[in-house]
Amino acid sequence: MQGQRVLLRVDFNVPLSDGKIVDDSRIRAAVPTIKALLDGGASVVIMSHLGRPDGRVVDGLRLRPAAERLTQLIRVNVPTTGDALGVGTDDAVRRLRPGELLLLENVRFHAGEERNDPAFAERLASYGDVFVNDAFGAAHRAHASTVGVAAYLPSYVGLLMEQEVEALSNLLEKPARPFAAIVGGGKVSSKVAVLEALIKKVDLLILGGGVANTFLVASGRSVGKSLYESKMVDDARRILKLAQDRGVRVLLPVDGVVAKEVTRGTEFKVVSTDKLPASWHMVDLGPASITAIREALAPIKTILWNGPLGVFEIPSFAVATRELAKVAAEKADAGATVVVGGGDSIAALRQLGVAEKMTHLSTGGGASLEFLEGRDLPGLAVVPTAGSPYETLPIIYVSPVKPGGKAAAKRAPAKPKPIIKPSALDDEDDESDTLA
Ligand code: ADP
Ligand code: MG
Repeated sequence: MQGQRVLLRVDFNVPLSDGKIVDDSRIRAAVPTIKALLDGGASVVIMSHLGRPDGRVVDGLRLRPAAERLTQLIRVNVPTTGDALGVGTDDAVRRLRPGELLLLENVRFHAGEERNDPAFAERLASYGDVFVNDAFGAAHRAHASTVGVAAYLPSYVGLLMEQEVEALSNLLEKPARPFAAIVGGGKVSSKVAVLEALIKKVDLLILGGGVANTFLVASGRSVGKSLYESKMVDDARRILKLAQDRGVRVLLPVDGVVAKEVTRGTEFKVVSTDKLPASWHMVDLGPASITAIREALAPIKTILWNGPLGVFEIPSFAVATRELAKVAAEKADAGATVVVGGGDSIAALRQLGVAEKMTHLSTGGGASLEFLEGRDLPGLAVVPTAGSPYETLPIIYVSPVKPGGKAAAKRAPAKPKPIIKPSALDDEDDESDTLA
């Protein structure tokens, strides 16, 4: 690393409220790689996106708050540029010395970022001798700063990326059994693919939150005014059938907390899920369901949890999420592997002060789900992984197949064109949906 200029992609897409960072997990998660590079004598040019400025400059989405937070964390001043490109930036990069770093302004202020425009990528690539991708949360995006630049520079993954891939691969490939997945949160539509993939891996599936409501409908109950997705009922039925065929136990809520309105201070009561009243909303799991979950988890050795079990933002409806967080912390203490993914789920754990007890917190929302679905993440696929990810290799690209898939590896032409285009995977669900 000594004397190298490293172009480092991180995921500083943190939730902001009134210009203040609400949760700095993603910045903290990037620190080990940044420190390792600086300590190794590299100069580091950092790139990130923040929010969805759609190719325009949006003052509320400048990266300055992230730079200030990083400065506090690493105790080294982190200057930012006013623009990801430009004469001033060229100059600042040129003046950078070993052991110094610089944060480029939000790359999504340029339309070329999300389009993976080769000219934009080439300009960014001119700021480094090598590229290190440590933005796991953006690895499911084939953008200029995650994929495009890899066409012009020798490319590596960072320590966070390595840790994420290792933790999630272990879940899929060699989980200690029995293995349980707990899936909650708002919508089935964003989780149907991962549910389908998980059914093939787990011994037990526990459903909660709005997700469970759609499954309750699929199993013949009515859910009143509760959040559920009528279009997803057939998918839910299919998943239940798949579970049955494979002998996977599915735990649906037997009781729930129903509320007149989904607001603070509203009237609420506990009812059986066989008798959900027509004009109420189910907003949390009830005590019998919580007990059932606790019992079902007793023998479990591996837990994957994504999605809160109720509307946890309202304290009265955070009971099941809080209880599960406690159980998860106890299980992790007792030696089970507990992996939690999802912005809101991790926020809930932080609120309860048990986040640090978990085996692994996955920083990528959409990226974690897509990885667990077994999809190839473009941001990983461009990095040569033959042998060690840190092995020095000539520029190699890998087409969007398995990371490290040798058959598809090609040597880059002198004037390479990025081969991964912004793909069909590029839909709504973008990482930090807690983003204000
Ligand atoms: P994560 O960010 O952890 O992946 P999701 O984004 O899928 O989780 O879901 C979190 C959201 O789901 C929260 O805003 C929460 O209020 C909502 N939610 C959970 N349970 C319910 C429910 N029963 N009804 C409506 N919304 C719910
Ligand atoms: Mg969320």
